[in-house]
Amino acid sequence: MQDVLFDNSYARLPPRFYERVAPTPVEAPRLIRLNRPLARELGLDPDLLAQPEWVEVLAGKRIAGGSEPIAMAYAGHQFGHFVPQLGDGRAHLLGEIIDIKGRRRDIQLKGSGPTAFSRRGDGRAALGPVLREYIVSEAMAAMGIPTTRSLAAVTTGEMVARESFLPGAVLTRVAASHIRVGTFQYFAARGDVEALRLLADHVIARHYPAAAATSAPYRALLEAVIAAQADLVPRWLLVGFIHGVMNTDNTSIAGETIDYGPCAFLDAYDPATVFSSIDEYGRYAYANQPSIALWNLARLAETLLPLLADDDKEAVAIAEGTLDAFTGRFQANYLAGFRRKIGLATAHEDDLDLLNGLLTALAENKADFTRTFRALSHAAGAPEGDAAVRDLFIDPTAYDRWAEQWRRRLAQEPTDEATRRASMLAVNPAYIPRNHRIEAAIAAAVGGDFEPFEDLLAVLATPFEEQPRFAAYADPPTADERVLRTFC
Ligand code: AMP
Ligand code: MG
Ligand code: MG
Repeated sequence: MQDVLFDNSYARLPPRFYERVAPTPVEAPRLIRLNRPLARELGLDPDLLAQPEWVEVLAGKRIAGGSEPIAMAYAGHQFGHFVPQLGDGRAHLLGEIIDIKGRRRDIQLKGSGPTAFSRRGDGRAALGPVLREYIVSEAMAAMGIPTTRSLAAVTTGEMVARESFLPGAVLTRVAASHIRVGTFQYFAARGDVEALRLLADHVIARHYPAAAATSAPYRALLEAVIAAQADLVPRWLLVGFIHGVMNTDNTSIAGETIDYGPCAFLDAYDPATVFSSIDEYGRYAYANQPSIALWNLARLAETLLPLLADDDKEAVAIAEGTLDAFTGRFQANYLAGFRRKIGLATAHEDDLDLLNGLLTALAENKADFTRTFRALSHAAGAPEGDAAVRDLFIDPTAYDRWAEQWRRRLAQEPTDEATRRASMLAVNPAYIPRNHRIEAAIAAAVGGDFEPFEDLLAVLATPFEEQPRFAAYADPPTADERVLRTFC
C-alpha cells in the first residue's frame, strides 16, 4: 500500500490535548463518493484513494502508514450552557497533509467509532447527516465561502440505531484545522495556562503567522480570529445560510464553516427563520448569527485573558477593545456584499436604506431569497426582466415601488450594464442546496439510489451557471415539498 506523507503537528502537542485512539473497524466499507478534484488539490492520487485498501482507510478499517489517529479534546458552550468536556466523540484526526499549495490540511474521519470523549452515543454517523454535510460543505466551497471540505463518503455495511435503524456512514473531512473556540475553553476551564500558551502558539504558527511578528502576538491572534469570523458570517447571510448550531465548539479558529448539522438555507426570506429541531428558542436564527458569533468570540477572548496582560484589568480592557472591531467589520462586509448583490459598484450613504427596503419587501411578500437576487441580476440592465422578479412577490407592486428607487440609484453608477449584470450573476447563485432537494437525495440514497445525490452535487458544483438540464433545481419547494425542520 502506497504511503501518504502525513505530518502530524497536533499529535506532537502534549498528551492532554487529545486521546491517541484508532477508529473502530467496520464490517463492509463501500465508497459512495470520492471528491477527485479535492484529492488532487491535496496531492493525492484519486485513483489510488478509490482502491479497496484506501477505501478501508476512509472507513477507519485500516490505518495508513504515517497516520497517528487522535481524538481532540475540547469543551464548549452548547446553546449558552458551558460543558467543560466535549471532544471528538465520534471523529478521528488521521493526520495532516501539506497540500499542493503548501497549506497544512487536517484529514479527519467523522462517524469512525467511539473515543474517550463519547459520553453517550455510539461514535457513529448515519448516512443522511453524512450526505447532508457532504452536499452543503461542497456547495459552500463552490460559492467561495470558507468551509471544511468533504473528501469522501463511505457506507460501513453496518446499521446505526437512531429513531430507527439507519445505514451507517463515515465522512472524510478536510479542514484548515479542527481547532475550535471550545479547544481554548477546554484548557481555560482547567486553569491550564501552559496549555493555552502552547495552543495559542500552535494556532499562530499554523493560521496567523503574521501575529508572531507583532509586539503583542496573543492580542494579534485574537484580532485575527475576530476578523476571520467577521468575514465569514456575513458570507452566510448573503446566501441565506443558517448554520443551526453555532455553539462555541462548532466555531473554527481558522474561520471556516464547520460542523454541518441541522443547517439549512432560506427559501422565502424571513430573518427569524430557524430550521433546527433542537433550536427550541431560535437562538441560532438566521438574523441572530452575527450577534452569536460575537458572543462566541467573547468566550474566546476570556480564555486568552491570562496571555493578554499580567494585570487582569488591563487584559480585560485589551479583550474588550479587540472585540469592538467585530461589529464594524461585520457591517462593512455585509453592506459591501449586499451592494454587489444589487449591482452597486460604488457606495452611497443611502444604500443601506435601499437594501433594507428590498429585504422588508421580501419578508412581507414571502419572496424566495435566492431567486429574487438571481432574477434581479437579469433585470438590472433590462427592465423587461422585471416581470420575473415581480412574480416572486405576493404583492408585485411592492417590487415595483422598490425597483423605481433601485433604478434611480443604478443610474448614478459608472458601470455599464453588461459588466453590472455579469458581476451580479457571479455573486447571486442560481442554485443553493435547498432543503427539500437534500431530503429527497437522502431518502433516495437510504433506499440505495444515489443518483439524486450525484445530480445535486453536479448542479451545486457550478452554482453561478444556469444549467438547463437542472433548471428545476433553482425552484423553491412547493407547499407539499417544504421542509420546516432539520435534524442532526
Ligand atoms: P456535534 O453536535 O456534532 O457538534 O457534537 C457535539 C458533541 O457530541 C461532540 O463532542 C461530538 O463528538 C459528540 N457526539 C455527537 N454525536 C455523537 C455520537 N454518535 N457518538 C458519540 N459522540 C457524539
Ligand atoms: Mg491523551
Ligand atoms: Mg460539533
